Amino acid sequence: MSVKIDRSKCIYCGGCVSVCPSNALDLKETRVECDPEKCVNCSVCVKFCPMGAISLNKKDK
Ligand code: SF4
Ligand code: SF4
Repeated sequence: MSVKIDRSKCIYCGGCVSVCPSNALDLKETRVECDPEKCVNCSVCVKFCPMGAISLNKKDK
């Protein structure tokens, strides 16, 4: 599973990387990446993101 990260909204605060219980998110130089092998669609990052940049990937359900 994975989340979608809107790069035009993300300010690279790194918060989602810290709150993800599965360590699925990684802050890269120019973007935040979600590892689909690790993500469990818990939506903790979606609720956390101050910019509303993260959404769940519906097709993963
Ligand atoms: S919490 Fe939101 S704004 Fe912050 S790095 Fe993650 S996606 Fe970007
Ligand atoms: S939905 Fe949950 S497991 Fe997936 S990236 Fe967000 S916080 Fe991590």
